[in-house]
Amino acid sequence: MSAKVLLLPGDGIGPEVMREAARVIDWFKQHRGFDCVLTQRNVGGAAIDADGVPLSDAVLAEAKAADAVMLGAVGGPKWDKVAYDHRPEAGLLRLRKEMDLFANLRPAIVFDELVDASTLKPEVVKGLDLMIVRELTAGVYFGTPRGIEVLPNGERRGVNTHSYTTSEIHRVAAVAFELARVRKKKVLSAEKGNVMDAGRLWREEVTALHTEKYSDVELSHMYADALAMQLLRAPKNYDVIVTDNLFGDILSDEAAMLTGSIGMLPSASLGPVQANGKRAAMYEPVHGSAPDIAGQDKANPLATILSVAMMLRYSFNRTADADHLERAVRKTLAAGYRTGDIARTGEKVVGCTAMGDAVLHALKARS
Ligand code: NAD
Repeated sequence: MSAKVLLLPGDGIGPEVMREAARVIDWFKQHRGFDCVLTQRNVGGAAIDADGVPLSDAVLAEAKAADAVMLGAVGGPKWDKVAYDHRPEAGLLRLRKEMDLFANLRPAIVFDELVDASTLKPEVVKGLDLMIVRELTAGVYFGTPRGIEVLPNGERRGVNTHSYTTSEIHRVAAVAFELARVRKKKVLSAEKGNVMDAGRLWREEVTALHTEKYSDVELSHMYADALAMQLLRAPKNYDVIVTDNLFGDILSDEAAMLTGSIGMLPSASLGPVQANGKRAAMYEPVHGSAPDIAGQDKANPLATILSVAMMLRYSFNRTADADHLERAVRKTLAAGYRTGDIARTGEKVVGCTAMGDAVLHALKARS
């Protein structure tokens, strides 16, 4: 049976970068026997324009039935006045929630050719290859009670609840331990158990799971604020970092900026393994819809192309293909191809399509 891959290009530069990603997937179909069927649908602002909602029930059903979903980006000034619950981003949040995508994987890799793009000294970031695993469907962003209330004395009070259960902690920690097994066998877990009960539970439960099933992996713990400092001081000390939704949001953005180039950052969001052995998964670049450069063939497609590599690796277990694609991206950079976001003064700038062409050319090369 052919694998089903659903493409949701979205808005702004989303369709431009997705076009290049689709060409790359096609290459693997034609040359590496990757048997898949690509279907394309609307999400975000494009879906508001077409269907009146940022994610239709029909598209959601297709996403749930797909073996993997590739998303471009959503949002833009055109939809700024749309009601809050119907804004483009609401479509993306609904997808993540309904597909139960609880583990967000954000690699932070510094390519040798782009080491100068970081604001940190080259010796601090050169060779960096870090994976942050963020819990995505629980914690303070979802906990109840929540809301804004007016107190009897007329003051207003905002409330959010930070809560985690054993199973919510175990399932995301398991993803981190499994990843560590095929990397450097090191996991760092971050929380603030010194001041938060849910953080204390997080540390205890990660430790319990480690003792029970993953004692072959080295586990250490750190308070999230200390880790925020260590990531700037010595990021290469870490390999896989697992943390909750709130701290993961902040720490993964910090780690992303160690690389200095938002147009280079892929991500994967994974759901639970189902009875048939399949796992819901969505792959997307970290960047947004970049309305300032949309429609001008200026976008860097490499974050989306690297998301294809993650899809090949994590949804289809095609490790050799994923490695081949990541090598092709490195070769493209080594050959001097740069979109505007990663070019230094004086370097020749190519557009989105030409960057896609260059990656396809590098894929064809033998070594
Ligand atoms: P953004 O990531 O879209 O853009 C930030 C800056 O980075 C811009 O200057 C942009 O030109 C540049 N940039 C981003 N991606 C690039 C690429 N691939 N190549 C070259 N340059 C790139 O963030 P923003 O400006 O804060 O948000 C714009 C819109 O995107 C908003 O509507 C926001 O809500 C939405 N957004 C969507 C997602 C998503 O779909 N996952 C994520 C973030 C923001």
